[in-house]
Amino acid sequence: MSKSKTPFGTVTERLDKNRYETDVEQSHIQIDQKAAAATSAGPLLVRVCPAHVYSQQLDGTIGVLYAACLECGTCLAVAPPGVLSWHYPRGGKGIIFREG
Ligand code: SF4
Repeated sequence: MSKSKTPFGTVTERLDKNRYETDVEQSHIQIDQKAAAATSAGPLLVRVCPAHVYSQQLDGTIGVLYAACLECGTCLAVAPPGVLSWHYPRGGKGIIFREG
């Protein structure tokens, strides 16, 4: 995460004020690994996500650490069609913003 200083602290410091209510029963992000491999979507998803939710695994698949999601929608905007299934976490779950 960026260490850029703002008048109110670094981005990391500000994001650290947020809270998460993780839905341990259900991920709100699913990846079609075949579609991801066919479109080489992995590096793109890894690069665009500000929360480092996605990771390229040694076996070529894409890992998803959905609990860290900021719900910004960037991945959904750039993913090739058919790669991602993304929806907001169930009610009361996900990120609870404390700033911004
Ligand atoms: S919605 Fe934003 S934070 Fe969440 S996985 Fe997609 S790019 Fe990352």
